[in-house]
Amino acid sequence: MGKRGGTWMAAWLALGAMLAAGAQAGVQSDPVHDGAPAAAPLLVLHGGAGVERGSLAAAEEAAARQALARALQAGHAVLREGGAALDAVTAAIAVLEDAPEFNAGRGAVFTHDGHNELDAAIMDGASGRAGAIAGVRRVRNPIRLARAVMEASPHVMLAGEGAEAFAAARGIELVDPSWFRTDKRWRQLQQARAREQGQAATAPAHPYFGTVGAVALDARGGLAAGTSTGGMTNKRWGRIGDSPIIGAGTWADARCAVSGTGWGEYYIRAAAAHEICARVRLAGQPLVQAAAEVINRDIPAAGGNGGAIALGADGSIALPFNTGGMYRGWIGADGVPHVAVFDEPLPLP
Ligand code: ASP
Repeated sequence: MGKRGGTWMAAWLALGAMLAAGAQAGVQSDPVHDGAPAAAPLLVLHGGAGVERGSLAAAEEAAARQALARALQAGHAVLREGGAALDAVTAAIAVLEDAPEFNAGRGAVFTHDGHNELDAAIMDGASGRAGAIAGVRRVRNPIRLARAVMEASPHVMLAGEGAEAFAAARGIELVDPSWFRTDKRWRQLQQARAREQGQAATAPAHPYFGTVGAVALDARGGLAAGTSTGGMTNKRWGRIGDSPIIGAGTWADARCAVSGTGWGEYYIRAAAAHEICARVRLAGQPLVQAAAEVINRDIPAAGGNGGAIALGADGSIALPFNTGGMYRGWIGADGVPHVAVFDEPLPLP
């Protein structure tokens, strides 16, 4: 290393030591991310792509919109108090998991065998830490378990009974599996099974996805992403989709956070969430363009469908989808929730 490089290195080490000392003393430091300063605290949500006009009763649509607004407000309450993006994402997703309108937690879709099997993931953009769980049947809020995996285990992903044993050990709420059941999802399983008669087993079970996800930018410039789902109706053989797979359905780095929703097999093959952020980081693409190319070009070209939400450290927001609608919304500094379901425009900040 030349003298010049050595001098720079020394300066960086000194800066790092200062920041570390500040963090230890509980002193707030300026954001250390290399992007522009954060525009404002922001939270963006989805409640799943694939919702079609005419497929929802007015009361169902109203309930879904209200749940999205409640989730946005729950996340905003965290950000307004100076809380971390990770906490805002967790709070918002937990609200949607408890709302029976969405395919996550209560109201999750059924497997072929009539169970609810839940997947979730969370990722912290600043540190690169991540946690995920797959195939759990008794965890009320899978996003909280994913977070515990990240923070209280040496692992990134736990599945099935082992994940539930870890939940019990961490004091995370377990419920009777009947907690997740709704009649609507049960009917959807019966319809999917009826449709399946005579069709190839690889056909998509149901066009409606309904997974939930959140991305947030906190006042210090930190980004986080999370996703929670029951997967796809009529799934079997322990099928796991993209949502809990870091880089496929969920990704966050210092400049970009993404949560996806859609036909998971295609998102896994495209490493879709990571692909969007890699285009921003490596190719210098604007976030909106990167998200549009992956969701509106690459995924459909491969035969898949769905949507995603993406948030940049500069405050840029993208909510692309290639289906008839996607439950979605955002909330900014003024605390007013903005929500859309179908192809109506959603004004952005
Ligand atoms: N992506 C999810 C999965 O394949 C489904 C969804 O988005 O609703 O499991």
